[in-house]
Amino acid sequence: MIVFDLQCDQGHAFEGWFDDLKDLETQIKKKLVACPVCGSEQVKRVPSAFAISKGRGQADHEKAAKLLGQSLQRYFMDNFEDVGPKFAKEALKIHYGASEARNIRGVSTEEEEKMLQKEGVDFFKVGTKPPEQPESSEEED
Ligand SMILES: [Zn+2]
Repeated sequence: MIVFDLQCDQGHAFEGWFDDLKDLETQIKKKLVACPVCGSEQVKRVPSAFAISKGRGQADHEKAAKLLGQSLQRYFMDNFEDVGPKFAKEALKIHYGASEARNIRGVSTEEEEKMLQKEGVDFFKVGTKPPEQPESSEEED
């Protein structure tokens, strides 16, 4: 199961669980996905979902990646606070210690993604498939 961030034509954001991207597209096409707020069947997938890990980089990423393959839903429900479109701002605040260190998840634009990478913010992308971690012995300080 994979979680996708969805949005209806009224702008309500919500999440749905699907086997994979194809399953999501099929269900949207068949109007099996409806907005929980207004019931609209005009639903689309919103851009990338991101999660930030408060831990120490790579190790946490690997742990998360493994968990992503096992029980993504539970892992995210238990460990990540949904900050929605405020993700980039919140991730930066945590990065610079202006906000409490914690796991957050949310959505972000491509521009924000680039900005976060530039700032060295430790985050990973989920929603389409678990991140593939290259074999690397690179150590972060
Ligand atoms: Zn709606």
